[in-house]
Amino acid sequence: VNLTKHFPIKSGVFQKTTGHIKAVDGISLFVKKGETLGIVGESGCGKSTAGRTFIRLYEPTEGKILFKGKDISHLSESTLSRTVRKNIQMVFQDPYASMNPRKTLKSILSEPLITHQLYDRKGRDQKISELLNRVGLNPSFINRYPHEFSGGQRQRIGIARALALHPELIIADEAVSALDVSIQAQIINLMEDLQEEFSLTYIFISHDLSVVRHISDRVAVMYLGKIMEFARKKDLYGDPLHPYTRALLSAVPAPGKRGVENRERIVLKGDLPSPASPPPGCVFHTRCPAAMDVCRKVTPKFQELKKEHFVACHLYQ
Ligand code: SF4
Ligand code: MG
Repeated sequence: VNLTKHFPIKSGVFQKTTGHIKAVDGISLFVKKGETLGIVGESGCGKSTAGRTFIRLYEPTEGKILFKGKDISHLSESTLSRTVRKNIQMVFQDPYASMNPRKTLKSILSEPLITHQLYDRKGRDQKISELLNRVGLNPSFINRYPHEFSGGQRQRIGIARALALHPELIIADEAVSALDVSIQAQIINLMEDLQEEFSLTYIFISHDLSVVRHISDRVAVMYLGKIMEFARKKDLYGDPLHPYTRALLSAVPAPGKRGVENRERIVLKGDLPSPASPPPGCVFHTRCPAAMDVCRKVTPKFQELKKEHFVACHLYQ
């Protein structure tokens, strides 16, 4: 709720703070249990920072993070690790980067179980084979090293590691972006099966609107640290209200059906402004085909226009 994460920009010999990168600037979102929330936007829009702030890998500058109704935004690290950490896991774009190359698959997957003191040695081995089976990897691989696996297999390992602690929420940041399209589909199908089996809730962060469309129940569109539009999937893709959402959707190849995706392509002018000095008023006004005078001065409110369909744009205020 109103979540904000600004990073100080330091310069000079004394490292004085000379400004702030407004990576996440007052966003409000929710996801219900068992659902998938997709967060889309161009690179640099703040979606990864948002994901990391949700699980307190970054301290929020302002605002609240509610997990099952409980405000976790100011819990101490020790309280967090006792309570929430186990329940919220993250899957990254390149799981290889977060795996120690000198450790075997077995020790990579044992780590979270040991940290949280789950199972004895024998129980752990059993748990690991179960996990590997479940993500479609042969349990006989357990003495292999990360470099022996393909990108898709590593992502399966990343998912197994996230699942080890039986989390309720998994935040996936560009989890399939580095993979070939056919492998992407396999990983997404796996994630969907696991979601059903374990009643998982997902926050799926991606720059790819087609992938997000496939997997999400709700979608939030981010631009320069702010949410432009947030709605249930069918409303967002079927009846996009925000000029930025419309532009993004117009660039997605049409699945060959009726609706907005067959409209003419809207090409945005100009470049993405820097999040260190976002434009005043509506942050999108420098590129918006519908910009009006008011857009240059006044920040549009993020309003619920229809049921569970939120938009921040002066066209509707
Ligand atoms: Fe465009 Fe104005 Fe709406 Fe911003 S507020 S998206 S500039 S019309
Ligand atoms: Mg990112």
